Amino acid sequence: MTKEFKPETLCVQAGWQPKKGEPRVLPIYQSTTFKYETSEQMARLFDLEDSGYFYTRLQNPTNDAVAAKIAALEGGVAAMLTSSGQAANFYAIFNICQAGDHFVCSSAIYGGTFNLFGVTMKKLGIEVTFVNPDASEEEISKAFRSNTKCLFGETISNPSLEVLDIEKFAKIAHSHGVPLIIDNTFPTPINCRPFEWGADIVVHSTTKYMDGHATCVGGCIVDSGNFDWDQFADKFPGLCTPDESYHGLTYTKSFGKGAYITKATAQLMRDLGSIPSPQNSFLLNLGLETLHLRMRQHCSNAQKVAEYLESNDKVAWVNYCGLPSNKYYTLAQKYLPNGSCGVISFGLKGGRETSIQFMDALELVAIVTHVADARTCVLHPASHTHRQLTDEQLIEAGVRPDLIRLSVGIENADDIIADIEQALNK
Ligand SMILES: *Cc1c(COP(=O)(O)O)cnc(C)c1O
Repeated sequence: MTKEFKPETLCVQAGWQPKKGEPRVLPIYQSTTFKYETSEQMARLFDLEDSGYFYTRLQNPTNDAVAAKIAALEGGVAAMLTSSGQAANFYAIFNICQAGDHFVCSSAIYGGTFNLFGVTMKKLGIEVTFVNPDASEEEISKAFRSNTKCLFGETISNPSLEVLDIEKFAKIAHSHGVPLIIDNTFPTPINCRPFEWGADIVVHSTTKYMDGHATCVGGCIVDSGNFDWDQFADKFPGLCTPDESYHGLTYTKSFGKGAYITKATAQLMRDLGSIPSPQNSFLLNLGLETLHLRMRQHCSNAQKVAEYLESNDKVAWVNYCGLPSNKYYTLAQKYLPNGSCGVISFGLKGGRETSIQFMDALELVAIVTHVADARTCVLHPASHTHRQLTDEQLIEAGVRPDLIRLSVGIENADDIIADIEQALNK
């Protein structure tokens, strides 16, 4: 059960398909280990000759059912859950890059990803070049080197809310023989499916809309199965040549379209271990069951709030790609015709200090280090999430020092607007 159903049906039904007499609801397989009857059965699992469960660090039925649901929603062939979005991004890159390699990345990305790629991965010997995502194909192409292994971007960047021209990025990546990896956290597959625009791998922080209730940190990597690793075998030896840690097995030969996710699971997860707990995956699955309904409400509320802010003369600027005045409106109409996400950024006349006073005056809207859950919340990136960045890096990441990030929830839009109005009037 995958591609023939529409997204709403997949949200509710994909992943767990119980057989006769099994629980209708996805069970929490709260077990580290799984029992076999003969030594031989277990040995075949360790050789990847049979598929089956033996240890939850590698695979767990609850986690796998939820991964399968997300793969179906994105239209991919396979997926792997991770314990956080950060882990998903790290694994997605590290699965095809090693010391001495390089990749190219949009500069309009989440602050945590910016640090992971620019600082921590550098310590592992993997270099990144950040590019302005709005630059021309020629300009972006200049960043590629002979050791470049992928191109990375966010569909809608957090928190700068720039909409990525995914087709342009896919064309650039493919002209250099490397895959395009897209962080699709903000729109979710309900509003955008990057594989349909040429992306090869999609990553998520499921912590955001997918969970949707701010209960569990988590991540996911989905493979479209479309990138032909063997065509560029010299670039991707980890996938296309024998893995000594699995008796000389070659992932592309043994697993075809499942090669990338199988390697991420069997090698990276085995060695690094950043799995979600089955309990968290169960909660994530509950969130996914209503993702389609919640995204609709997030987007319609955010549109109303953005229009209100734009019409208020205390507000200096509003950034929301659903506003016709927005720089990314045309791209959003192309890639996100049904809505983008619930996150808006804006600045107040009076700048940084006024922003802080405004936030302190909010009552319904809470100050939290989170976005994209059911409750409306607000954050000042320059004082919070992006504290480590210099003013120059802030601007490069598309984050103005006065920027307020407002994550519009699924309450009644009138109540959200009334709270903003009373805070503005203070
Ligand atoms: C939050 C976020 C991440 C990091 O995810 P965690 O689950 O917090 O580790 C990565 N990318 C984007 C776009 C995010 O919003």
